[in-house]
Amino acid sequence: MDKPKVVILGAGYGGLIASRELEKILSEGEADVTLINKHDYHYISTQLHKIGAGTASDHKVALHIPDLLKTNLVKFKKAVVSNVDFNDKNIVLDNGETLEYDYLLIALGFDVDTFGIPGVEENSFKIRSFRSSKAIQNHITKEFTAYKEDQDPSHLTFVVAGAGFTGIEMVGELVDKLPKLCKQYDIPVKETRIINVEASDSILPFFDRKAIDFTTAYLKNSGVELMTSTKIVECKKESIALDNGLQIPARTLIWSGGVRANKLLEKWNLQLVKGRIPVDEYLRVKGLDGVFCVGDASLFAKEDQTALPATAQVAIQQAQTCGPNIAATIRGEALKPFTYSHKGTVASIGLKVAVGNVFGVKMTGLFAALMKQVVEARYLFVLGGPVFMVKEILNLNPKKGSTQTVSSR
Ligand SMILES: Cc1cc2nc3c(=O)[nH]c(=O)nc-3n(C[C@H](O)[C@H](O)[C@H](O)COP(=O)(O)OP(=O)(O)OC[C@H]3O[C@@H](n4cnc5c(N)ncnc54)[C@H](O)[C@@H]3O)c2cc1C
Repeated sequence: MDKPKVVILGAGYGGLIASRELEKILSEGEADVTLINKHDYHYISTQLHKIGAGTASDHKVALHIPDLLKTNLVKFKKAVVSNVDFNDKNIVLDNGETLEYDYLLIALGFDVDTFGIPGVEENSFKIRSFRSSKAIQNHITKEFTAYKEDQDPSHLTFVVAGAGFTGIEMVGELVDKLPKLCKQYDIPVKETRIINVEASDSILPFFDRKAIDFTTAYLKNSGVELMTSTKIVECKKESIALDNGLQIPARTLIWSGGVRANKLLEKWNLQLVKGRIPVDEYLRVKGLDGVFCVGDASLFAKEDQTALPATAQVAIQQAQTCGPNIAATIRGEALKPFTYSHKGTVASIGLKVAVGNVFGVKMTGLFAALMKQVVEARYLFVLGGPVFMVKEILNLNPKKGSTQTVSSR
């Protein structure tokens, strides 16, 4: 009898952790498991802002996927998925190749939402993937070089749109990085501007008042211009227009205005809710046989019918339930319902400052920054165990893969 074919789409938090769970449960020969991802590296999305600012080295954020798989059970395939035929149980890759599946896990993650604001899609930089974040880093360096030539202040004006989690983390990294670049290029720090534009009246929604006030004061003291209750209405290559009539001469807009599920899902004839795939309590896609979905692509309704947020924490916990549920389905065993346990949230503002709430304990400053390091180390532990985590922190794991850079927006 043919072995059941399991295909996992996406090797982000959801797809990779689910693969690791299947490796732990299934024995070799019990199923053919294929993990498909568009690159041969797994990027730690929660650290992409550091790649954007150039405050973390590439190999800390992009990990070679085959090295993260521990057994021969899961075969890794570097490919771009373009379509799924849920009737014929076929996956179509962008090179025209097709793959059959019996069980499918969709873990294709997020896309950036630019809300149709004129010029933002074409002219802004996005913290969406390793490559798009690397493009920000390369662009910032180019702007410093350009400023040396013509002293046009627009080269050194860096606008970050959105003061949510990602936007504030990006601003925090720029606060750390720009003075270093100024030193390197022999440019006074006062020639640089960091502007954060936020449509709502406060930064960091979902954080408590103390964390918001702490962050606001820290960023203002660092020279960041915070513009809340302000909307970007247009982005051109060399200027950004705001709804209050102001035109900011700037050649860098880093867009962190919002995320949505992978746009690809819209082409697949699925019943989407707010762009995401509704799943049942076992993380199965409603109405489709043998199909599961986790992470930002999925929509899991809590008891009060509100959706779980699109976070790494949710994706990891879902994958830890979904992997075993796929194995249980193959074996005809009972599935376990998914329950989410919120451990807390920490937003970094550069390397040495953070704000957060972990297991109900509110924290700000250096202690919170240390806690952020613990959270990041914990993920490495979940991914590869204690030895992998220690080696990764100490930079002892072999570094492979192809994280070529790009320089366009
Ligand atoms: C800067 C930043 C900071 C963040 N900080 C936090 C935080 O502190 N805490 C937190 O909980 N969450 C945080 N998040 C959110 C978190 O990163 C996401 O919720 C998480 O990445 C979702 O995991 P996922 O597995 O669903 O998708 P992803 O991690 O996005 O993985 C999707 C994978 O699918 C691949 N893929 C996509 N399309 C295709 C295709 N067509 N073919 C093949 N492969 C494809 C991608 O390359 C990627 O590897 C942050 C996000 C950002 C951007």
